[in-house]
Amino acid sequence: MIPFLPLQAINASFEPQLSQAVQRVVQSGWYLLGEACKAFEDEYARWLGASHCVGVGSGLDALTLALRAMAGLYHWPDRAEVIVPDMTFVATAEAVVLAGLVPVLAEVDDNALLTVAHAEKVRTARTRAVIPVHLYGHPADMPALCDWAGQHGLAVLEDAAQAHGAEVGGKRVGCWGQAAAFSFYPGKNLGALGNGGAVVTDDDDLARRVRTLANYGAQVKYRHDVLGVNSRLDEVQAAALRVKLARLDADNEARRAVARQYAEGLRSPHVVKPYQGDTARSVFHIYPLRCAHRDELARHLAARGVETLIHYPRALSQQPALQPYIANPTDPHPNALCWAVQELSLPISPLLTADEVSHICDAINQWSA
Ligand SMILES: *Cc1c(COP(=O)(O)O)cnc(C)c1O
Repeated sequence: MIPFLPLQAINASFEPQLSQAVQRVVQSGWYLLGEACKAFEDEYARWLGASHCVGVGSGLDALTLALRAMAGLYHWPDRAEVIVPDMTFVATAEAVVLAGLVPVLAEVDDNALLTVAHAEKVRTARTRAVIPVHLYGHPADMPALCDWAGQHGLAVLEDAAQAHGAEVGGKRVGCWGQAAAFSFYPGKNLGALGNGGAVVTDDDDLARRVRTLANYGAQVKYRHDVLGVNSRLDEVQAAALRVKLARLDADNEARRAVARQYAEGLRSPHVVKPYQGDTARSVFHIYPLRCAHRDELARHLAARGVETLIHYPRALSQQPALQPYIANPTDPHPNALCWAVQELSLPISPLLTADEVSHICDAINQWSA
């Protein structure tokens, strides 16, 4: 069986350094808000080319706290609207609701990404921000989206949970908007041994607000200026992430090599491969195929020992939990719905071998719909 993502083997490939780093934290007697978190925040900000990184408890918290900090700093009115692509993980829109704001869903393009044209269609007088999602590790068109947002006085929060190290025009995602949210969920390209996330920004005030909100609203101990939450990147996770960050560029290159082999090897007329833009460099968190007979192809591959997944089987506009909160729940988004019906994610990881990729390509090329 070729697993979708062999997480145990991936983490084993960081041994013995990974376990040693965890053991040092265990023996240190200091588990939260310590030196490992501080060191990781500095290293990750430097790796991205950003001024500040604030470690938090998860990607969802990173999105939520960044929005709450923006709403306070930029004095957004009640019921301010935030534009979110209709095809993404539920957290992108859930964070908007949790921050007390209103999600407005936008159609996506042939790459499942938000574009200026689709965002402009749903912009209203109440819009204050837009959240481009670098879905599957492929960067959204940040130069165009940031220009457009700037013209209309909108803040840009990047959802970079799937795109650690992706670039547009030589600049890493996470450095384009006023802030970006990252997730270190174990299966992400930079994955912890549990939950973790970070807000990245160049804005000193925004960084300070996020750090305060994440720490019970306190800048100094026992003085709580705002009602915050408990959301920390703990020392074990930070220590593990430092070990894995050191190899992330090489791991992303290995994923790109797998993607190149898929791009060359897949010849079936029944599948659509993800395209690579001219200036955008994906980190291929996911290798998303589209196929009109997706479920049959998945069964065919399973019978040949290839595990696949679907990201995601529903658009946000089809999620019952979000329905009461969405400003435009009935707007039609045929592209987003098409992705939900047709997407199939092939195995991809730094450990996937060329032989395994060619086995998967052969299995797909031999399949007739
Ligand atoms: C994983 C993910 C999140 C949420 O991250 P968690 O750490 O699981 O909370 C948010 N947005 C996208 C696009 C994701 O893939």
